[in-house]
Amino acid sequence: MMKLVSNSIRNYHYHYAEIGLRLGWLSRKKNHMSTTTVVTAGKGIEKERVDCVVIGAGVVGISIARHLSLKLGRNVLVIESGSTFGTVTSSRNSQVIHAGIYYPPNSLKACLCVRGRRLLYDYCKEHGIPHKQTGKLIIASRNEEVSKLNYLLHRGNENGVEGLKMMEGSEAMAMEPELQCLRALWSPTSGIIDSHSLMLSQMGEAESHGTMFCYNNTVVGAHLEGNQMCLHISETESLQNWDTKSQWPPDIVLLPKLVVNSSGLSSASLARRFSGINHGVIPQSYYARGCYFSLSNTVPPFKHLIYPIPEDGGLGVHVTLDLDGQVKFGPDVEWLNEIDDISSIQNKFDYTVCADRAKKFYPEIRKYYPSLKDGSLQPGYAGIRPKLSGPGEGFADFIIQGEEFHGIPGLVNLFGIESPGLTASMAIAEHVATKVPRI
Ligand SMILES: Cc1cc2nc3c(=O)[nH]c(=O)nc-3n(C[C@H](O)[C@H](O)[C@H](O)COP(=O)(O)OP(=O)(O)OC[C@H]3O[C@@H](n4cnc5c(N)ncnc54)[C@H](O)[C@@H]3O)c2cc1C
Repeated sequence: MMKLVSNSIRNYHYHYAEIGLRLGWLSRKKNHMSTTTVVTAGKGIEKERVDCVVIGAGVVGISIARHLSLKLGRNVLVIESGSTFGTVTSSRNSQVIHAGIYYPPNSLKACLCVRGRRLLYDYCKEHGIPHKQTGKLIIASRNEEVSKLNYLLHRGNENGVEGLKMMEGSEAMAMEPELQCLRALWSPTSGIIDSHSLMLSQMGEAESHGTMFCYNNTVVGAHLEGNQMCLHISETESLQNWDTKSQWPPDIVLLPKLVVNSSGLSSASLARRFSGINHGVIPQSYYARGCYFSLSNTVPPFKHLIYPIPEDGGLGVHVTLDLDGQVKFGPDVEWLNEIDDISSIQNKFDYTVCADRAKKFYPEIRKYYPSLKDGSLQPGYAGIRPKLSGPGEGFADFIIQGEEFHGIPGLVNLFGIESPGLTASMAIAEHVATKVPRI
């Protein structure tokens, strides 16, 4: 019995290592070929049976791969189009551990944020992930904002957020002498995390339970053969001439028992390329860019996270802190138009932060930090929110769809995993596991 088990484990490792090598080999082989030379569709394309494929090695995909391998004993291949993990939204955010205040009660965002935050703090403590429970002040700068603050207090309490407390402006300003506000909502469970260390640690655990990460390979589509999903994979570098009209011929086709589409910004675009799926269940994508500016040449003016009242599309230009105490401001909200599916799958977004944008930041920040000096903001970085509602359309929840929505056994699609996706990542992984067919 023991021998059989260890043989099957060894076989499984050989099998996955072989597929991984082959995907790597395809990448290397293509380096010596013209990018227009591609394997023709149909005949000659290799097919491989695998257990689970997770598409995307962002913080959410990594957490799902860890959960599937560590908790469910599944054999996981993570296919990532980039040259390494976590280079898209997971490294372009505020790195804030959110308490769970903002979202409608019983929404996935509320439930998974509160649960995910608790899991994340426990995980950070157990695994030595750099983090700090700084606490956060949500502030009202004008009289008309005070009722919104009361509303947030009520909502946070409904969501089960611990320790929320309404403060007079004077109490908040005693905590933060550079701050100006009328009232503040104190959230003691908010904090910051080194998300890169988190991803690295969870990848290590996943890998030690047999998960394999394959970089530089893009999932370009899928088709169904009966109930079997056939996933089309191509080497990322070869996709430069891919246009909106064509189906890109795959280098290899994987036949997984389970596919988790955790491809972030492009998950809806990619799902639309799964032939056989009911397109009616795939939500429309919207994209909202957010830029950050860092504060230069000054002693950090704040010790806590400071957030204004949320705005349409984002949480407002807020103060976030790095673990070394440095302050940055952002992100603002800039809606992007005319992003086609192929561009989003290829992450062809513009992430440049134009220095000119600072003109809009100064007046926003001075509402709560009046002594901000001219010329002290330096362009930082930008991230893009994968949104499911457009300008003025209000709240949209995370969407996590299993077979019950789209009718395809063994497919889980994640859509709209914007903030608080980092905080919620471990709870999202638990939730995805409830949708995985038993084997
Ligand atoms: C400006 C901003 C600030 C934020 N601040 C916070 C915060 O403070 N706290 C918080 O909790 N959350 C925050 N978030 C949200 C959080 O960053 C995201 O929810 C989280 O990073 C999403 O992780 P992901 O793994 O789903 O996506 P990603 O990190 O985007 O990962 C998806 C991966 O899939 C890969 N991929 C895409 N298409 C394919 C394909 N076809 N084949 C193979 N691979 C593919 C990509 O290369 C990428 O690596 C913020 C988001 C933004 C934009």
